[in-house]
Amino acid sequence: MSEGRNTVIGLLGGGQLGRMLCEAANPLGIDIAVLDEESSPAKQAHNTNRHVTGSFKDPARIRELAAQSDFLSVEIEHVETEVLEDIEKNGVKVVGADGSTTLHKPPVHPSWRTIRLIQDKYLQKEHFRTSEKKIPIADQVAIESGVAAMESLKNAAAKFGFPFMVKARKGSYDGRGNFKVDSEDDFGPAVKALGGLSLYAEKWAPFVKELAVMVIRTEDDEGTLKACVAYPAVETIHEDSVCTKVFMPPRGVPETVCEAARKLATEVISTLWGRGVFAVEMFVLEDGSLMVNEVAPRPHNSGHYTIEAVPYMSQYKAQIHAVLDLPIPEMLTPRVSSSIMLNILGGATPSSHLELARLARSYFDEDMDIYLHLYNKASKPGRKIGHITLTGTSAIQHLEARAKPFIDLVNQIRQ
Ligand code: ATP
Ligand code: MG
Ligand code: MG
Repeated sequence: MSEGRNTVIGLLGGGQLGRMLCEAANPLGIDIAVLDEESSPAKQAHNTNRHVTGSFKDPARIRELAAQSDFLSVEIEHVETEVLEDIEKNGVKVVGADGSTTLHKPPVHPSWRTIRLIQDKYLQKEHFRTSEKKIPIADQVAIESGVAAMESLKNAAAKFGFPFMVKARKGSYDGRGNFKVDSEDDFGPAVKALGGLSLYAEKWAPFVKELAVMVIRTEDDEGTLKACVAYPAVETIHEDSVCTKVFMPPRGVPETVCEAARKLATEVISTLWGRGVFAVEMFVLEDGSLMVNEVAPRPHNSGHYTIEAVPYMSQYKAQIHAVLDLPIPEMLTPRVSSSIMLNILGGATPSSHLELARLARSYFDEDMDIYLHLYNKASKPGRKIGHITLTGTSAIQHLEARAKPFIDLVNQIRQ
């Protein structure tokens, strides 16, 4: 289908991850056809007449996208998977210039099976726990809906003790489907806050650090795994459940733990299906052992730093290479010694983040390279509207010291 024109990846979702994917696709001569709203950040970054306007949950629009795409991929996991399954199995009708109809079956990467599993955080972790690899996760139980919810929460409390976490099984991001339960008094508010959603309870993870590892997964067209290659482990800082900062390498985490995290991440991703990049979020416990929090089947906030730190194969370029089954490196070694990523979140007023962008534009330090990324999104409190990546050629502690004006300002805007 791609003879005489660029290969087209149809992308469900056009937020900042899609935007950075488009930025990686432009120099490669790959077309990204984005399905999302007209003004989405990704569409602004990539000029093609193939974009589709509408929702990535709308089967009709997904079919429209599929009809003109050589491959389908996602920048968000909360998409309609029934139609993806149908497209892969039965294809979509394409009407040729002569009026004849053919069936077109663009491969979906990662597989709709992976996306569907990951959408339900409870099932996702049951899958990891019961897989051959016996991936460690926090103990969890499903919570009944309706009037049985209170009884079900009582049982969870008896099993886990306080505090524990109640989470929406589907649709959450930036901690928006999570509720920390400190005592029985929180049962009512938790059910109310997450009202109507299908829930599960998770034992509290007394972590000392959070790590994330990006993994590139490739397989052949028959579904046989070819490789899972991990980027370095990074330290992620969450404040109010939102990732605010990322440190590469992690501060104060032994090299052995970082390597164990990388190995665990490749094991986790080897249990899934399809090609692409994946994020594995993990907890490091007091004794240095690791627990998997959740997986994202797409580029991830914790991998933004790879644009500058692993320029020959950023997580975005990697998604393209994986989906198209182009070569990927056997090792993903950064070209810098250290890197810090700071999210720019919308502040109390629509312009409170601008000072941070201004500082990034005007600051020079020969020991620290500064890269500002704004996503062209309207500012709302807590919304991710950009990020700054800082890279250095010395230890992370040194870079952190150089980055102090930026870190201070990020913290100040959050208050
Ligand atoms: P994301 O934006 O990463 O998709 P999410 O809405 O899916 O976020 P989680 O990853 O489940 O949310 O949780 C967000 C944060 O809440 C975690 O990174 C961690 O800091 C904290 N957290 C989650 N689960 C637990 C737990 N069981 N014990 C302690 N802290 C937890
Ligand atoms: Mg999540
Ligand atoms: Mg998370």
